[in-house]
Amino acid sequence: MIQMKQTKKYTRPYRLWTDYRLRHRSPRQIIRWALDAFGEQLVMTSAFGMNGVALIHMVYEEFREHGLDMTIPIIFVDTGYLFPETLETKRRIEAAYGCRVVTYYPALGKEEQAARYGPDLPHRDPDLCCRLRKVEPMQRAIAEHRPVAILNGRACFQSSTRRTLPIIEWNYTPLRIHPLAHWSQEQVVDYVKSHHIPYNPLYDQGYLSIGCQPCTRPVKPGEPIRAGRWPGTGKSECGIWTTEYPTADWTVLRK
Ligand code: SF4
Repeated sequence: MIQMKQTKKYTRPYRLWTDYRLRHRSPRQIIRWALDAFGEQLVMTSAFGMNGVALIHMVYEEFREHGLDMTIPIIFVDTGYLFPETLETKRRIEAAYGCRVVTYYPALGKEEQAARYGPDLPHRDPDLCCRLRKVEPMQRAIAEHRPVAILNGRACFQSSTRRTLPIIEWNYTPLRIHPLAHWSQEQVVDYVKSHHIPYNPLYDQGYLSIGCQPCTRPVKPGEPIRAGRWPGTGKSECGIWTTEYPTADWTVLRK
C-alpha cells in the first residue's frame, strides 16, 4: 500500500477490466486503488471547492487508517484573482489535515499582464487570461512533478460538459482519476457537512462553483451550478482540464 510503482503500459483489456472493477466502487475504494496502483507517482490538484475538500478528506482518511501522514502533494494554482475566502479555506484545510499543498503562480503578475496584454483581460479575453493564469502554471506543476496520474474532484453533476466524465480518463497523460465522478451534489455536501470538513463560506451565499473573483457570481435559484462562471460569455471551462499537457504549445506565452 502506498509504495512507488513503475509506470505500466495500459493495454485495452487492462483498461476495460479496471473500468469494470471500479464502476460501482465507492470514492474511498477508488482512492485506495489509485494509491495502490500509483503510490508516489500520484498527485492531487485542488481549487478547494466543495468536491475538492471532500476528496482531500477521503485521501487523508485513507492515509490515517494506515498510520501514515498524508504525503501526496496537492497542486494548487493561485491566479492572483481568487477570493480571500478560497485562500482561507486552503489555509484551514492545511491546518486540519497537515496536507502538503504546493502552490503555483502565473509567470506574470497582474500589473505585468496588464502592461503586456492590456487592462481588464479577465473580461476582454478570458480564454487568454485563463491560459496565462491557470493553464500555464498547471503545465509547470505537471512538468515539475511528472506524475503518472492525477486525483481530481470533478464530477458529472457539475455541468453539461462533465456529464459523461468517467472515473478514469485513460486518454490523457498523466491519467486523470475522478473518485467523485458519479456522486451527486447532495452526496458531496452531506459528506462535507457530516465530517465537519472546512469549506468555502461562499457556498452559503449562493456561489455553487467558485473560481476567480472577476469571473464568478452567485447562482440564482434554478440556474445550473456553473452558471455563475464567466457569465454572459459562453465560456464554461478554464482550460486546465481540456489541455493535453505533454504536447501543449506554450509559445503564445513567450511573445
Ligand atoms: Fe482570468 Fe477569470 Fe480565468 Fe481567473 S477565471 S484566470 S480571472 S479569466
